[in-house]
Amino acid sequence: MKTNLDTIQRTVMVVEDEIINRQILGHILGEKYNVVYAENGVTALGILGQPNARVSLILLDLNMPEMDGYELMRVLRGDDALSKIPIIVMTSEKSAEVESLELGAVDFIPKPYDSPKVILARVDRSIALAERSTIINATERDELTGLYTREYFYEYCSKLDSYNPLIERDAIAADINHFNLIRELRGPEYCDRILKEIGDAIELIAKSYEGIACRDGLDKFCLYIKSGCDYDEMLDKILSGVKDEVGADKIYLRMGVYRNADKSIPPAIRFDRAFEAGIHMISSYRSGYAFYDTDLRRKKMYNRKLIGELDRAIEEKQFTVYYQPKYNITGDKPVLCSAEALVRWIHPEDGFLSPGVFIPLFEEHGLIDRIDRFVWRESAKFIRHIKDKLGVSLPVSVNVSRLDIFDDNLESELLKILGEASLEATDFLLEITESAYTDDTKRIISTASSLRQSGFRIEMDDFGSGFSSLNMLTSLPIDALKLDMKFVRNICTGPKDLRIVELVRDIARFLGFPVIAEGVETEEQYKLLKSIGIDIIQGYYFSKPLPAEEFEKLIEAEKIY
Ligand code: C2E
Ligand code: CA
Ligand code: CA
Repeated sequence: MKTNLDTIQRTVMVVEDEIINRQILGHILGEKYNVVYAENGVTALGILGQPNARVSLILLDLNMPEMDGYELMRVLRGDDALSKIPIIVMTSEKSAEVESLELGAVDFIPKPYDSPKVILARVDRSIALAERSTIINATERDELTGLYTREYFYEYCSKLDSYNPLIERDAIAADINHFNLIRELRGPEYCDRILKEIGDAIELIAKSYEGIACRDGLDKFCLYIKSGCDYDEMLDKILSGVKDEVGADKIYLRMGVYRNADKSIPPAIRFDRAFEAGIHMISSYRSGYAFYDTDLRRKKMYNRKLIGELDRAIEEKQFTVYYQPKYNITGDKPVLCSAEALVRWIHPEDGFLSPGVFIPLFEEHGLIDRIDRFVWRESAKFIRHIKDKLGVSLPVSVNVSRLDIFDDNLESELLKILGEASLEATDFLLEITESAYTDDTKRIISTASSLRQSGFRIEMDDFGSGFSSLNMLTSLPIDALKLDMKFVRNICTGPKDLRIVELVRDIARFLGFPVIAEGVETEEQYKLLKSIGIDIIQGYYFSKPLPAEEFEKLIEAEKIY
């Protein structure tokens, strides 16, 4: 079983023209190191220049043909990466030492060779010194657990990568939930025992997966190990140790895992990502783990970008409103009776963005009101324009999102926008999604009632997607039910959805308001819906959402005036 950094096999290069010396050194070093040989400076440079050459130390003879040891040291000194490889000069002349030191040699091995032990010790020490020179000011080990401290850990992660670049590794970050609380309740000694136990378990895991571990701060641990670990098993191991040894069975570990971590980014960021994954775990009263998701991150970054761009997008009129016609199909011929206003974002870089991408995002961040107000204003202007130009009064449905419902100024804003275009409440139909009704029933009922008293008509959108009970439906202040699209989608394929649609129709009839079906795409769907007495239809079968000018042409063509 391999352990951690201490047992990674380093490569030592012997640059020496005499075969016998190469053989002696090979014999001495071969047990512990991977040894490569060069018979002069030129060959040595050839080997060092290969992309996968990872030489930890050079043992250098000074007198060689073609390129001697001095010349090679000069060349190496001029190269950023190669100048970091420690060089031990092998010489029988005392006088060569000063010049060698000036050229960067770190030590000497006298010829003829000393005892193998001394040579090995010098090589070991020089490699260790070189590897640690980058992190002088930190302590290497955490006192309590014996694990690496963070600074060393990160440094060693990079080392692991450079020695074994092809091995896929997971970055894991774990912490104890409510640790501060436990400390306060049970005291620091008890907590130290827990930390120590976790540290021991983690060290063992690191060893069996050819990796390393650290304690990072009070109750955080990091692991950098070969991919392929069973994380349930890992948690079990750690927690059972804590339970058996310390008797603590209410310790919950939260673990974030960044699988096959990207080695081109600094270790610190890899572990940030692992922590971030852990933070998203649902319950803090359970142990568990969560994986870092690169796609999720990309999506999050993209969302952040969109949020940052919202104000400018409104200012620069990147949003436009499309209108999707609704037809009343109760008579012989379908009659255009209104349209739904649907926002579109024509993004200067990303092109046409679907509302499915940005509406939920802006809702979640409480920014949707800005878009909605823009859409209401545009819709009001459009209704005015159609009245003036074609003499047609066509109401437009606008979406009122959940957050708008909680805005005390909702009604006055709507009236103001309509007033500015010399319109009335009846010119708008307000679509409020069913889930808004189930969110906060009291609030929505009072808002909707008040809106209706001012003359607005309200359509309950996406009916069937939420959980309103039949009982609730009878007391809701609404004027129409708009069926969730999923029922229409399956209405021709199985009897279940058709039954539901018929049931909704019956309820609506009983309560005295019409049913609207949206997402109607085919003639078959249309005919079936008509045959069962659905009143209004919206969908691609009649028309996709259209830009204002095209919708205007459609109104003209329909000759509804
Ligand atoms: P919604 O209110 O249920 O709008 C209907 C959606 O169905 C629209 O998608 C429309 O383009 C699409 N659709 C219409 N006919 C068909 C059809 O025959 N087949 C299919 N497959 N789809 C059809 P859109 O425009 O992508 O909007 C998605 C959602 O975004 C809307 O769902 C609505 O919840 C929201 N949304 C759109 N515009 C606004 C807005 O101005 N304000 C607010 N708050 N939400 C909006
Ligand atoms: Ca809608
Ligand atoms: Ca809908």
